[in-house]
Amino acid sequence: MSTPAGASQRGVDLSQPSTSPAAPRSWQGTTLRRRNYSVVLRTILTDGPISRVDIARRVGLTPTAITSIVTSLLKAGLVKEVQPPSEGRDRGRPKVPVVIDPDGLSVLGIFIGGTHTSVGLIDLSGHLIAETEIEQVGTSVDGLVRQTADAARELMDAVSPTGPILGVGTSIGGWVDTDQGVVLDHVQPHWVGAPLRDGLEERLGLPVVLNSNARAMALLESWLGAAKGVRNFIYVSIGALVGSALFIDGKIYDGASSAAGAVDHLSVRVRTKTQCFCGRRDCLHVAVSDETTLRLAHQAGVPTTVTSIRDLAEAAEGGDDVAARVLRNRARYVGNAVGQLADLLNPELILLGGSILNGLEYLDDLRQRAASTTHTAPDVADIIRPSVFGRSALSRASGALVLNSYYRNPLAHPPLGRVIEIEE
Ligand SMILES: [Zn+2]
Repeated sequence: MSTPAGASQRGVDLSQPSTSPAAPRSWQGTTLRRRNYSVVLRTILTDGPISRVDIARRVGLTPTAITSIVTSLLKAGLVKEVQPPSEGRDRGRPKVPVVIDPDGLSVLGIFIGGTHTSVGLIDLSGHLIAETEIEQVGTSVDGLVRQTADAARELMDAVSPTGPILGVGTSIGGWVDTDQGVVLDHVQPHWVGAPLRDGLEERLGLPVVLNSNARAMALLESWLGAAKGVRNFIYVSIGALVGSALFIDGKIYDGASSAAGAVDHLSVRVRTKTQCFCGRRDCLHVAVSDETTLRLAHQAGVPTTVTSIRDLAEAAEGGDDVAARVLRNRARYVGNAVGQLADLLNPELILLGGSILNGLEYLDDLRQRAASTTHTAPDVADIIRPSVFGRSALSRASGALVLNSYYRNPLAHPPLGRVIEIEE
């Protein structure tokens, strides 16, 4: 299968800053300016519509500096002005607010789940333009990569966005080496060792960023969800796969070998009859994964027609006491793990995502168990909250992985880099 015509021209190499050798700058000047553009663009993303005066106040730069930056952003087509609210016009000079121009750039987001893959096209403001979902066929990594790339190409052709496509954010469960772009560990053996990033780059002709789905979701939450403005939080994902993402001091923390947040085999002080794929019987994964939870429910007498956690929660709601007990126990095991994480990282917020959100009535059991497990976070129950994004946000969250690189240094890429060079 050949690379789609024009794809590499439309894409931007995320790894190569496009600073012009003809315009040398002092290291400090460049770093400061990069930071200023990044902070202003990100403030418009999270707080827009916002006026220049309010941006200046929020980021601590002079109104003149903000006007200059916003003018460049307008020229590059990355932001646009919107109608000021009526109270803004009443007080003399209107404070014309700006927002991210969603047509400025777009990215692809790919989430590789257990049986299905979602591919979405995401605009510069992090919103989904269009999405497609495919069922994974076979277990050959080459075949799965080809199938995914074909779906992505079809989506790009169907939507044909106006601005350039910046790159592809891809997320998958398990342990991902973000530097090498390789899946190191996964509950499905065929993904172990898969060079997913290079495979997709080759097929799509676009730069690809690969990371775990929990980290992708944490990023989206920090931009547009329940963790907006929060500097330190943990995102815990409980579903077919179990994992977490650590957001420390305003950034996703990958760890020395991309393994940070691997909570799946943390002991939760329970001995199950099932052996985990890690070899143990007391770990979080084997205690609370969807598969184990359903098996336990069936063994305890819940009908085998109940095949998902959503079904199980509905059965419990309909009066099935056994289903309710299984879900309550699951929530408590997660509480054990969350209490330990609270001690380890002292977060401001702990967000829960995945199938654990089916049956929110057990959240109090989880909170109570976390509170009785922790030694240093007596208020842990108050900081445990459900994610605002469901499973349907996973392709969008994957796209956020690329947008995050972009927002960190928008000057390194056209069209902003081009506008700045012309001005110099
Ligand atoms: Zn395990």
